[in-house]
Amino acid sequence: MTDSTTVSEGPKQADLDRCVHCGLCLNACPTYRELGLEMDSPRGRIYQMVQVKEGAPITPSYIEHIELCLACRACETACPSGVPYGRIVEAARADIEAREPQPWLKRTVRRFVFGHLLQSPRTLSAMGAALYLYEASGLQRLVRASGVLNSLARSARSKPLRLALSPRFSSARSGTLFRLRANGATGSR
Ligand code: SF4
Ligand code: SF4
Repeated sequence: MTDSTTVSEGPKQADLDRCVHCGLCLNACPTYRELGLEMDSPRGRIYQMVQVKEGAPITPSYIEHIELCLACRACETACPSGVPYGRIVEAARADIEAREPQPWLKRTVRRFVFGHLLQSPRTLSAMGAALYLYEASGLQRLVRASGVLNSLARSARSKPLRLALSPRFSSARSGTLFRLRANGATGSR
C-alpha cells in the first residue's frame, strides 16, 4: 500500500497549460541569464514538467534543472499568462521527492542543515568559523586543485559566487541590533 504522505501528482495540468511559450519570462529569470540554457529558463522547465506529466522518466538531468531553479518567482511577475510558477515548481519538487529516493548523503546533509544547523545559532557560528579557517588557511585551494570535488555535484565543483568569508561571519554579533546614525553610519547597542 502506498504511503499517503508520499503521494504526489506533480504540477497541475491546468497550471502547466497556462504557459503559451511566449518567452517573455526569460529575461526575468536569473538562472537563464546566468547559464543561457533554455532548459534552465521558466519556459524550458515547464516544457520538461509537461514531458514528465506525459510519462517521461524523471532523469538526473530533469532533477538538476528543477533543482537549479531559485524559486524566486521573478518569472511570475513577467508572465502575461498568469502562470503560477512558484506553485508549479514546488509541485514538481514534491513529485521528485515522492518518486525518486534521494541519495543517503544528500538526505543526511539536508536533515542536518534544516533540522539542526539553521535552528542553532551556536552551531551556525561554529560552522562559520570552520568555513573561514578552511578558506583562510589555503585548504580550500588545495582541495580544489586536487580534483577530489570532481565526482561531486556541479554546485560543489563550481566557483563560489559569494564573497570571501570574514572572520566575523555568523559571530557573536548575530542578533545584535544596530541603530541608524544621522550620518548614515551604524552603531550597535
Ligand atoms: S512568460 Fe509565462 S506564458 Fe510566456 S513562456 Fe514564460 S511562463 Fe510561459
Ligand atoms: S522562479 Fe525559477 S524559473 Fe522563475 S525566475 Fe526564479 S529561478 Fe527562474
